[in-house]
Amino acid sequence: MQKQLEEVKNKARISATGFAVDSKSSKFKLFNFTRHPLGEKDILIEILYAGICHSDIHSARSEWGEGIYPMVPGHEIAGKVIAVGEKVKKFKVGDYAGVGCMVNSCKECEACKSSQEQFCENGKTVFTYNCLDYFHGDEPTYGGYSNNIVVDEDFAVTVPQNAPLEKVAPLLCAGITTYSPLKFSKIGKGSKVGVAGFGGVGVMAVKYALKMGAEVFVFARNENKKDEALKMGVKALYTTDKLGEVKEKFDLILSTIPTAYEPMDYVNLLKYEGELAIVGLPPTQDCPSINIKSLVFSAGKKVYGSLIGGMKETQEMLDFSLANEIYPETELISVNQIDEAYDKLTSGRAKFRYVIDMKSLK
Ligand code: NDP
Ligand code: ZN
Ligand code: ZN
Repeated sequence: MQKQLEEVKNKARISATGFAVDSKSSKFKLFNFTRHPLGEKDILIEILYAGICHSDIHSARSEWGEGIYPMVPGHEIAGKVIAVGEKVKKFKVGDYAGVGCMVNSCKECEACKSSQEQFCENGKTVFTYNCLDYFHGDEPTYGGYSNNIVVDEDFAVTVPQNAPLEKVAPLLCAGITTYSPLKFSKIGKGSKVGVAGFGGVGVMAVKYALKMGAEVFVFARNENKKDEALKMGVKALYTTDKLGEVKEKFDLILSTIPTAYEPMDYVNLLKYEGELAIVGLPPTQDCPSINIKSLVFSAGKKVYGSLIGGMKETQEMLDFSLANEIYPETELISVNQIDEAYDKLTSGRAKFRYVIDMKSLK
């Protein structure tokens, strides 16, 4: 990173290398690009680990709308701070830092002021990749499948030196995405929680809900990961072809499902006043809608969507995870295995989270 430090000194753009796709059907290949110069409130992070979230696949394959190419996905980032701007307060060189799904927002609207930056009311949330950066001349953002990132310190979380960084990376999306709705729905001792979709995000929901004192159940397409679920403390794993036979009634069901499904099947499993929280976001053409008539006749039940969580809550989630040793289930891969990981994640051959070891980029 000698070259990048020289560039910082000269207030020049920062050279970066990553893995990108050129189109929705292309394979990943090496991509050299530059990031904006280090601003006075920015930090430069050498990326050490980047998790692969299913949102990366939806984005790279233009499943939610046309992507911006070349695209370097990755919003589960953990690494080491190697340079700081003059006005940076939270970090010093050598610290560990994490970056999730966003890298900036207006900081002035009600949502930003209450640290719900993902909902910036001025529409200025800058997502980590596949987004135009309002604050830097609308240049495209590039994510974590790369060797470094420049980010406003307010959009990075502090990570203690003794933390297992490869386990920290997925917390920046999978962690906060599940922690936030569990808190929002006030899950605690005695709650009954169902987690639909037991992959990288779902497993974090299971672990947090158990720690918060809930009784936890999993809904999956098959029993492939039943042993893992039971070992974690899950009461039962139900397969989705038998939802009609489930006798339990839930306070909260968290759907992390990334494919087509019928949401009312889960609403029907809620207690009176129970909640269905939806975080999984299937491709646009498969995206379920809710039958309003069934909902009206659903006895006070609530359905809500949830999008990651704000920066303050992301730091709280990270501190909670480290204090309670709640970590994702990870498998380290090299940059040359990203395509293979995508294939496994979309064909039912993956277990939980793949994490790219950025040492393999050198
Ligand atoms: P993974 O691919 O790691 O896991 C998805 C899991 O869902 C897999 O275990 C898969 O099982 C299972 N699944 C697929 N279809 C069904 C179905 N019809 N019924 C039950 N289970 C099913 O993905 P992630 O966990 O990384 O992401 C999940 C979703 O959450 C994605 O749509 C992603 O975009 C979204 N997301 C949303 C966020 C937010 O802020 N709202 C943040 C992060 C992610 P199998 O092995 O059989 O394929
Ligand atoms: Zn994600
Ligand atoms: Zn705002």
